Amino acid sequence: QYGDLSHFFQYLFASFESLAQSKKIVFQRSQSHEHQMAYFDEDKLEKIVTNLLSNAFKFTPENGRITVEISYVSSAEALGGALTTITVADTGIGIDPQRLPRIFDRFYQVDDSQRRDYEGTGIGLALVKELVNALHGTIEVESALGKGTAFVVNLPCDQAHWGDRVLNVEANRMLEKRAILPL
Ligand code: ATP
Ligand code: MG
Repeated sequence: QYGDLSHFFQYLFASFESLAQSKKIVFQRSQSHEHQMAYFDEDKLEKIVTNLLSNAFKFTPENGRITVEISYVSSAEALGGALTTITVADTGIGIDPQRLPRIFDRFYQVDDSQRRDYEGTGIGLALVKELVNALHGTIEVESALGKGTAFVVNLPCDQAHWGDRVLNVEANRMLEKRAILPL
């Protein structure tokens, strides 16, 4: 639906404020635009960002820092149509690079021991990936063990260019796959 994207994020982020305070985590938010109007799927977007932020808060110890950044590029500025980029970064426990490729798998948890330190079932990121795909977006992750993790989500959010965007994202995905596959 069409609405105030900045306002939507502002509200969503505010719901994490008390958690940040109780965990003594510095929660930094920034948005490239104020009152940016855009086409977006409120339900899916909320689930995506809530899951990423919940993970960030769960896997970041006290006195850490969580940064969330929203940047919006309008269709006038971007070739493929309007785009929203969401970056969620934390100074948490990080993820072993060897295990990184599996974190989007259903029920996968890095710490799978009987007495785990962290609650959960391992479906959050699988859902995030599904939702991002449904929105024709992309998600990337970068992490360093003991240092922190950053997720970057790119979502097309322009109705007029939606068709083109979908094609572009699909094309990029195919190119990516080709690059990974052994020739
Ligand atoms: P659920 O989301 O179902 O409550 P979960 O949080 O364990 O459970 P996912 O959100 O799917 O599951 O994440 C999968 C795994 O990826 C986590 O168990 C954790 O090992 C790792 N992970 C995800 N986000 C982070 C993060 N920000 N920092 C460190 N590890 C993370
Ligand atoms: Mg989770």
